[in-house]
Formats: sequence, C-alpha cells, structure tokens
Amino acid sequence: MALKLGVIGTGAIGQDHIRRISQNLSGARIVAVTDIDEGRAKAAVKNLEGVRIEKNGQDVIRAADVDAVIVTSWGPTHEEYVLASIAAGKPVFCEKPLATTAEGCMNIVKAEVAHGKQLVQVGFMRRYDKGYRALKDVIVNGKIGEILMAHCAHRNPSVPSSYTTDMAITDTVIHEIDVLRWLINDDFISAQILMPKKTRHAENHLQDPQIVLLQTAGGVRIDVEVFVNCQYGYDIQCEVVGETGTARLPEPSNVLMRSGAQRSVEILTDWKKRFSDSYDTELKEWIDSVKKGQFHGPSAWDGYVAAVTADACVKAQQTGQIVPISIPKRPALYNLQER
Ligand code: NAP
Repeated sequence: MALKLGVIGTGAIGQDHIRRISQNLSGARIVAVTDIDEGRAKAAVKNLEGVRIEKNGQDVIRAADVDAVIVTSWGPTHEEYVLASIAAGKPVFCEKPLATTAEGCMNIVKAEVAHGKQLVQVGFMRRYDKGYRALKDVIVNGKIGEILMAHCAHRNPSVPSSYTTDMAITDTVIHEIDVLRWLINDDFISAQILMPKKTRHAENHLQDPQIVLLQTAGGVRIDVEVFVNCQYGYDIQCEVVGETGTARLPEPSNVLMRSGAQRSVEILTDWKKRFSDSYDTELKEWIDSVKKGQFHGPSAWDGYVAAVTADACVKAQQTGQIVPISIPKRPALYNLQER
C-alpha cells in the first residue's frame, strides 16, 4: 500500500521532493501540502490528483490520512514541526537543518528518546550519493588502511547577496560536516577556520573563500575549502588519505569531448543536478524504512552533532581560535543505527 505523505513547505526543495515522489518513485503518494503562501502550495500540486491544501503545518501533521510528514519549510520552523510529528507518533523527514540551534536539535533528540522509537530522519542526502557510498566501502573494507587525513572542497559558482560569512558553515559546509563524520565514523573534537586572500567576486560583507580545519577524536585531520563565488561551476571534491593509499570521490559522469584541439568535460553549475540521484535514493530508502519501521538514515542525533560542530566552526570564524567540540554520550536509542 502506498504511504500517504504530508508536505510542509512548497518552496524550491519542497517542490522538488513532491515531483520526485509523484514522478520518479513508487510506494508513496502526497495527500496533503501546506505553505505559508497558499498560492505556492496550490501551484506545487496543480498536476496531482487528490492532494489537499491544509491551512498550516500543524493541520498536516494532525490529518488522519497523513502517515508520515516531510518538512521542507524555512529552517526556523523545523523544530516545531518535527516535535509535533514526534508527539503525533508520525515518522518525519526533515530537510537540514533539523533545528537552527544545537539546543533545538537536542529538544528533538530528547523528545524522540522519550517517545522510545526513532521517527526522525534529517535530509543529509550526500550519504545517498553513489560516489560517497563507494568511498565509504573503500574505507570500511580497509582498502587504504587507517584513515589519516581528508582534503575536501565545496565550490559554488556564486551566491545571492544575502549569503553571509557564517552561512558558509551553516548552509554549505554543513554537508561536509555530516558526510565526513559518516565516512570516517568518528566525531569531531576541534574546529579552526583560516581566511585566505578574499576573492573580488564576493560581496563586501562576505569572507570568501574560507578553509575549515577539523580534527576527529581518533586524530584524523580534515581540511575543507569552501569557495562560494568560484565562478566556474559547482564542484565537490573529497580525497581521503589512508596509511596505505588514497581514495577520491568520483567525478560526475559527463561526456569527454575532443574538439578545437582540446579534451574537455563539462563541469556542472547546479547543485540540484549534482545530487539529483542522491535525493531520489534518499527519499526512496526513507519511504521503505518508514514502511518497515526501521530507520537507517541520518538521525536526529546526527542532526544534533552537525549543529554542535557547525556552532564551533562559526565561533572559530568569529574568534580566529581553535574551538574545542564536545559531544555528549550518544543516547542508546541511536546505537543500533547503521553508520
Ligand atoms: P524556500 O524556497 O524558501 O522554501 C521554503 C518554503 O517554506 C517557502 O515557500 C516558505 O514560504 C515556506 N514556509 C516558511 N515558513 C513556513 C511555515 N511556517 N509553514 C509552511 N511553509 C512555510 O527554501 P528551500 O530552498 O526550499 O529550503 C527549504 C529547507 O530545505 C531549508 O531548511 C534548506 O536549508 C533545506 N534545503 C536542503 C537542501 C539539501 O541539499 N538537503 C537543499 C535545499 C534546501 P515564504 O518564502 O513565503 O517564507
């Protein structure tokens, strides 16, 4: 039987998820949606049959025919809707951030632990990317020995003028924070940010690029270059260095052209295209896990740890210091989770 879903927030990613659930995936259908802009909600489902527009997020969560909830509204609303979903005993997929503060994420962890069963998944879709999964296989199977270092880059062609220096962490590097912790299977203990020479293509208020340095409890050192006005494309790089070899995230498979005395491969410019398959896999596996009642994806705990790590990075930006990261003991509820 198809899982009946309610979607809160029909902006860019909400519309994208509605399209993939109704066109690309089987096993679920959308029965209710809401957005603060009712017209946007209507437009998002205008080609779908039998979808109701609810007045607000709480009505979506409460609706008797909604089996599970997808939260794709503005970040500051996430905590309220995830807590309400837990209170209603309904599985909830929440786009990142789980909440805008570590305290908010911890409120969700506590509510889920009190409920006694995992209901929450966070939208860290890189864990579903074929390339990252292949990289994880190499690491888990010991093919490059003990991991020592990782060198990463997260580059966007440009960002809107509203993008601020801290967003390089909270909106951009947050994906590296989660996926590196998952790849290396270790928590971070410190963060430092280096500010290289600033590009002339960044707004006055924005420090771009930045270099984020992270250290894990096991001593692995990670550097992430975040450069959001790099002009040339959307480019995600990750190389892991082990004791006996290195492993690099595969490039997206694009045609190799020979033309005009040059060999060339197109570089993507749109992040949605780069991770489009990962979003499909992420939601497909989430739908399957809701049906089975067994969650394996990024949990509320992972959302909390990402928030604590991001806070330390932002503090490191502001102080120029190496900022320690302290993660409390993981609640037993999350111990069985596949990582
Ligand atoms: P967006 O285009 O601004 O969409 C958010 C939508 O939610 C807007 O239509 C907004 O309306 C609506 N909204 C705001 N408050 C609401 C409320 N209380 N109830 C119902 N709807 C409400 O933003 P987006 O790019 O889709 O991003 C949404 C979330 O997904 C963000 O947290 C973002 O970080 C995350 N995201 C994750 C990824 C990823 O790679 N995993 C990618 C993109 C986005 P108004 O515009 O009128 O306020």
